Amino acid sequence: MSLAQEKDPLATYAEITWCPGCGNFGILTALKRVLKERSAELNRLVLVSGIGCHGKIVDYVAINSFYSLHGRVLPVAWGIKMARPELSVVGHAGDGDAYGEGIAHLIFAAKRNLDLTFIVHNNSVYGLTTGQFTPTSPKGFKGRSTPKGSPESPINPLELMLSSGATFVARGYAGRPQHLAQLIAEALNHRGFAFIDVLQPCYTFFNTYDFYNRHVREIGPEHDPSDFEAAWHLARRWSYTYEAEEIPIGIFYRTEKPLYEEAVRVPEKEPDLSGHLARYHL
Ligand code: SF4
Repeated sequence: MSLAQEKDPLATYAEITWCPGCGNFGILTALKRVLKERSAELNRLVLVSGIGCHGKIVDYVAINSFYSLHGRVLPVAWGIKMARPELSVVGHAGDGDAYGEGIAHLIFAAKRNLDLTFIVHNNSVYGLTTGQFTPTSPKGFKGRSTPKGSPESPINPLELMLSSGATFVARGYAGRPQHLAQLIAEALNHRGFAFIDVLQPCYTFFNTYDFYNRHVREIGPEHDPSDFEAAWHLARRWSYTYEAEEIPIGIFYRTEKPLYEEAVRVPEKEPDLSGHLARYHL
């Protein structure tokens, strides 16, 4: 065991190569905080990541994990869950992964209420490939592929998830890891598809810390997360533009629905072999 692992049993031998100041550090801190509280369950937890800066998180946590393909976090996570239903499976994806290449998987995971937790590291930029616009980049975003500014408006992932049928919809901020840890713990406790969009500044290519620090507000007890209309209204309060608006973070919506595997389960019954047996005079 290395010195780092003696200090932190969840540490790995991998050198952390995120840029100093990257919002992924806040997500890693929050995740480890939750995992340390669940040390007895760690052998029943699996992390799955996609491709992008976020994906390295599976290298930095000493539990079972799977590094998947771009946009394919959810099919891999669901495959693991189908094969081993007793496991808790947590998918990590970037905003390009989740809302670009993998958007159909995301909609159907929510629609079907797959029993998974899905954490999106949303920095509104492709950081690993040095700064191209993504589905949540603001209109006018100037990057490598849009030097004159993106003409597209960003999608609002919370609206997308609410309208697709997700049973747990939350937003966190990497700059508030303690609050984010509470959201991750609640998501892991949820039975069904638990979705967290995490505002994760990319320090190098789209540094949004200052804006988020000024505008993020934790949702208070006056919000009833079982009220879909209230959740919808709250989700529309900020449309992923970078203008002066209040940005709610916390649990927007939580409800219960049958799991996909319950809905498709074939009832067990004894096979009827009478015709077969008669044919062979048994
Ligand atoms: Fe983080 Fe951006 Fe650096 Fe990637 S490029 S490690 S997202 S700061």
